[in-house]
Amino acid sequence: MENRTLRVFKTMSYREKPNSEELAFGRTFTDHMFVMDYSDAEGWHDAKIVPYEPLKIDPAAMVFHYGQSVFEGLKAYLNPQGEPLLFRPRKNIARLNRSNERLCIPTLDEDFLLHALKQLIYIEKEWIPKADGTSLYIRPMIISTEPFLGVAPSKEYKLVIILSPVGAYYKEGINPIKIAVENDFVRAVRGGTGEAKTGGNYASSLKAQEVAGKEGYSQVLWLDGVEKRYIEEVGSMNVFFKIGDEVVTPELNGSILSGITRSSVIQLLKHWGISVRESKITIDELYQEYQKGNVEEVFGSGTAAVISPIGQLDWNDHKMFFNNGQTGKLSKELYETLTGIQYGRLNDPFNWIE
Ligand code: PMP
Repeated sequence: MENRTLRVFKTMSYREKPNSEELAFGRTFTDHMFVMDYSDAEGWHDAKIVPYEPLKIDPAAMVFHYGQSVFEGLKAYLNPQGEPLLFRPRKNIARLNRSNERLCIPTLDEDFLLHALKQLIYIEKEWIPKADGTSLYIRPMIISTEPFLGVAPSKEYKLVIILSPVGAYYKEGINPIKIAVENDFVRAVRGGTGEAKTGGNYASSLKAQEVAGKEGYSQVLWLDGVEKRYIEEVGSMNVFFKIGDEVVTPELNGSILSGITRSSVIQLLKHWGISVRESKITIDELYQEYQKGNVEEVFGSGTAAVISPIGQLDWNDHKMFFNNGQTGKLSKELYETLTGIQYGRLNDPFNWIE
């Protein structure tokens, strides 16, 4: 039923490329996008690369009402030879399919989607910015398009991949951030959709972010949605704690997003002979370890920033400072190694690049 042909329709009017020194995040888009449709009768079909343009969608489309949608985020980088590199794209595509399963969206042929993505990147390779630390952000998304107001899985979907040249996350070098532990709002609960990359998780996180932002924090540290004790994630990143000789990160429990950077950090640390523990960790436990002077470094991991050191964590009236509010040695080494592999400057012992 599934049709694997990919057609390409090139644009007639090329857009002006932004100056790569002045790029923000996610505001500029390239000349082309990939689209593919789903219907029960035809499966995923009509795959094509077309000029970037607004979508025309019925206002009754189910996505507008009940939010049945999923997305992904990954990047293409230029290596020193000027060739485009993708970092573990199969992992993102596999995660997209896991999100699909959770949201009752029909799954995709992963090899075909990777092929289509590579074609799109090849066509847009001039859009990958060259300045240090810049990259081409890749945003695949799927929306339910059936015009129907019943609450049920849609029978029609559209998959779109758009590309956006993005600036260096740390313009003045990698800087520690200040975080507040969130005691009221929760991001996800066990049995909910926290492990899926679906818009609703992000919509429900905005309020906490807004409140914390007004109080001068960059992000919040999310606790579990039931007991509000177990540490889950930081903003839209996974979180790691270097406690003594061990690195601890919350175990995947169904409400935590399984980050591709998280999995890469774990693999790298193990490769370096550093002990990593994926387990439950409560905020009280962390504070006790902090009081004993054992918490050496704390950092978030994610595609956007790669590694984001946390210099200060406020939990009610308790203020915790890590590594004197400076970027720690391990955070720096992880950042340098991961970005070195991503930009093809270091060799890639794990075959992460393709
Ligand atoms: N948690 C959340 C909620 C996220 O949105 C992201 C970003 N995708 C991450 C963690 C980090 O995942 P990754 O390393 O795959 O970017």
